[in-house]
Amino acid sequence: MSDPSHSLAIGPDPGPRTSLVLRSEFRSMPTGLVLEAFVRHVAATGSPETFPGISTTKPPDFGRLGVLVEFHADRAKRSDGNLAPCPICSPHDPQYLHGLLIWCEATAAIYAIGMDCGRKLWKHGRLDQAVADFHQSRTRNAVEEELLERLPQVPAFRAWLNVHLEIARVADRLTSGFKKSAPRVHATIKEAFAHGGQLRLNAGDAAGGGPYTIAGPGFVKHSFGAEARLSRLNTERLEHLDFGDDPLDCIEAIAKIRPIEQTIALKWLRDAGSEAQRVYDHLRDCWAFLDPANMEVLAKWSDTRSAPFRLAAYVQSGRAKVYVYQGKDDWFDRLDGLAAPTPPPRL
Ligand SMILES: [Zn+2]
Repeated sequence: MSDPSHSLAIGPDPGPRTSLVLRSEFRSMPTGLVLEAFVRHVAATGSPETFPGISTTKPPDFGRLGVLVEFHADRAKRSDGNLAPCPICSPHDPQYLHGLLIWCEATAAIYAIGMDCGRKLWKHGRLDQAVADFHQSRTRNAVEEELLERLPQVPAFRAWLNVHLEIARVADRLTSGFKKSAPRVHATIKEAFAHGGQLRLNAGDAAGGGPYTIAGPGFVKHSFGAEARLSRLNTERLEHLDFGDDPLDCIEAIAKIRPIEQTIALKWLRDAGSEAQRVYDHLRDCWAFLDPANMEVLAKWSDTRSAPFRLAAYVQSGRAKVYVYQGKDDWFDRLDGLAAPTPPPRL
């Protein structure tokens, strides 16, 4: 038998005169535990060649080949401070740091070898193909895992969307109404936000107190279109990705989606998460701007001689009326339906 390490693996203890080195036998491609142990071993020792279970005999250039792990051994971790030797062709010479843990079906064994040696052993692009398959399946696994993490959150996320569609609708109406009916006031406030939200007073007004800092810079973005943005998320995308919140149902759904669609679905979910966060930031700004405390600051400031506009606000038990004017500009609106937004759930 030309593969003593292999024969030792299947035979019982052959006797006291043989120096017994147990080699593991891998009839099918090893998974989980072996890979983790190997990765840990290499990370700790920088010595892939000492991992128990790897074969040191030359494998044949036929049969199925599987890349299990691609690794970079750390020279500094090695006791000899050198490159790792190739367990197959030069067990005592420094050879490589960048290598692969490979499973070979023909020998039911695993090998830890450098890239160059691997290409010499498995010719005609066989190794490169195995490496490409490995990277592809890793990407696919990562996509599936992330999908499985995110998909069960879709129902909760859509529930958040539905609640915030109404808040967004009111915020849109208020922000565009404000800009349209009081453009000069709007410009003044926008200018204030451009300077950190500070409303400045002329020198003669020093007795008026201050500084007055107002909240909610996003309120002046009148064309934000919060409602349309949330509605687009729900109807164009998430509606198609709602498989319920049961992870098992989601696994079943993922299995039915082609890889390219999985990639797109994942992009949709990620994008939806960040888009919802942007809309939330805007709604939070609107809420903060229209908050009674902020209105009070504005009213106080607008009462000073140098203020370019006058503002009066009436707020009571969740309902408010804001009246603002500057010459012919005036804005009046009721805040019914605008509620405090909550952060979108993780998607
Ligand atoms: Zn070699």
